[in-house]
Amino acid sequence: MKSKAAIFEAIGKPLIVDEIEVDDPGPGECLVKLEATGLCHTEIWYMGGGDNVDYEQLSPRILGHEGGGVVVKCGAGVTSLQEGDHVVPLYISECGTCPECRDPNTNLCSYLDDKGYYEGAMLDGRPRFRWRGRSAYHFMGTSTFSQYTVVPEVALAKIRPDAPLNRVCLLGCAITTGVGAALWTARVRPGDSVAVFGCGPIGLNVVQGARLALAEKIIAVDLKPERLQKAKELGATHLIDARKHGGNATAAVKSLTGGGADFIFEATGNTHVMRQAFEAVRYGGGKCVLIGVAKTGEEVSLVPRMLIAGRQLTGTAFGGCKGRTQLPWLVNWYMDGRLKIDALVTKEIPLTQINEAFAWMKQDQGYRYIVRYDM
Ligand SMILES: [Zn+2]
Ligand SMILES: [Zn+2]
Repeated sequence: MKSKAAIFEAIGKPLIVDEIEVDDPGPGECLVKLEATGLCHTEIWYMGGGDNVDYEQLSPRILGHEGGGVVVKCGAGVTSLQEGDHVVPLYISECGTCPECRDPNTNLCSYLDDKGYYEGAMLDGRPRFRWRGRSAYHFMGTSTFSQYTVVPEVALAKIRPDAPLNRVCLLGCAITTGVGAALWTARVRPGDSVAVFGCGPIGLNVVQGARLALAEKIIAVDLKPERLQKAKELGATHLIDARKHGGNATAAVKSLTGGGADFIFEATGNTHVMRQAFEAVRYGGGKCVLIGVAKTGEEVSLVPRMLIAGRQLTGTAFGGCKGRTQLPWLVNWYMDGRLKIDALVTKEIPLTQINEAFAWMKQDQGYRYIVRYDM
């Protein structure tokens, strides 16, 4: 099967838009025709050499992990999906049977992990992509920068067919990570106070997650007034322009919450802001959730006494969402009008414009760009 794709070749080089060859799905796998894929900062991080892998060995590679598409072919033994099903590929699978899948307190799944799946191939050790006579490797098990991609059944969330794939594709990463961090990782309760440090695409979704959880105070913190306005649109009740506080919003958050917020979410990836966020959590059980990814090798310094006083610090992966079970709920909430996605879409582009869109993202312009394969 021929497919248009954007191919990663080497660190610092733009992606190459070209035709690749995609193999049939193997046992337990599905061939998916994607309608759209979002662009995430994780790809910018990978393309810039941020990952701790052997780049030479894993190139060429098909990146992308925020897709929406339709199953066009099922491999042997696939039982839960069939041709024509609408799906969102998952970079954290849900096999349903591993110890993590059976634990309601985590969304991790060790099924694919254990088999070297995230090293760029499918479970039999072979990639399903070829380009200019060479194998091309998978990325995050999803590789949504190819119109046709092969994904294991356990890493595909089946969704209702009336949901627009060029919107719900964003549930493959940004929306679910942010909303889920509030709902599933932190378990924000009605009446709680929440502060979100950093109102980019992920932080804005924490704001909406807190709104959906019926938090009483939702404080948005950012350096950019337009991002704060967007946070207000998505449910923030209080806005803090950190520039007016010397770049440190800790004291302002504490004064708005009578000593510290029940939950603070850090979505900038800046280790100084991580510390500020932790210090703005209330003592006696307040929780700080780190979502932003720091640069490799960076550390956060903490005052141990703050932990003794009962403050908790944790992280989140994919918002704690068990993808096959819970992602379809988010699709329903979008279709009901409760979850906002359209407000986060900056622009839809054809695949040929992908490098340009990454350049806009590097300049911090907009929220989410969506590649449409039919454009
Ligand atoms: Zn992402
Ligand atoms: Zn599992």
